[in-house]
Amino acid sequence: MPIYEFVCKVCGKRFSHLVLSADDQKDVKCPQCGSADVKRVFSPFGSLGSSTSSSSGGSCTSFG
Ligand SMILES: [Zn+2]
Repeated sequence: MPIYEFVCKVCGKRFSHLVLSADDQKDVKCPQCGSADVKRVFSPFGSLGSSTSSSSGGSCTSFG
């Protein structure tokens, strides 16, 4: 299934959306703020199953 990844340009929310047709991705809205101002991003592995192992170094990611 063609699951594309989008990022909201308003709140920065990143989400994946199932796009069945070419016109479908035009109607993608942000699930967080409901804005239609989203941009499609290309992920190398898709949206599911990303395993990154970081042994050293501290990555501080603030969520929310
Ligand atoms: Zn948003």
